[in-house]
Amino acid sequence: MAGLSQEQLEKRASIQKTATIWGVVVGVLAGLIALWVLGGQGAALRHGGALVIALAAGFLVHRASFNSGAKSAKCAKCGAAFSRSRTDRSEALASSTAKEERQEQEDKSTKVTTWTEEVYDVTDTYTCANCGDTTTETSQSTRRRDETTEVEPFVPPEPPKSDKSAAASAKSGKSAAASGKSAKSASGASKRGKSSRR
Ligand SMILES: [Zn+2]
Repeated sequence: MAGLSQEQLEKRASIQKTATIWGVVVGVLAGLIALWVLGGQGAALRHGGALVIALAAGFLVHRASFNSGAKSAKCAKCGAAFSRSRTDRSEALASSTAKEERQEQEDKSTKVTTWTEEVYDVTDTYTCANCGDTTTETSQSTRRRDETTEVEPFVPPEPPKSDKSAAASAKSGKSAAASGKSAKSASGASKRGKSSRR
């Protein structure tokens, strides 16, 4: 392409480089998947097929990445190609929230994850190297900060304190032990009772 300034050539080279990396990564992955899928075929078909698929996937991804990079680098005002690049990025904290997530584990302990969720308003400034036009784009980004994970051991429910409820639970325990049916249908307590009996 003639008539491109040094800056535009560099911009094009950097878009080309990103597209090449994506093309190679996706091409290799597609080739490996094809080798696996064609595992039952003869060696020639397997390797040849994987190579064709790797090249095709790499080519398509390279082209898509390059086109999208070229599109976003084209100045909307003067129409110059490979001229628009990011010249500034500023971030402002929009909100900060304490978060907690509780997950029960198989052994009945609880995994407690806490973190601070920060939302930033991001402002990107793009400048055209040809006409000097600047445009801004705003977006939001969310980040987790100070993430900690703790495991709370399983705590069995507290035994009843008052005499009345203690008597009631003793009674119900008795009746559960007496009739096998109701002991089976009660969940946690009956399981423990069962295993100790056997
Ligand atoms: Zn321009």
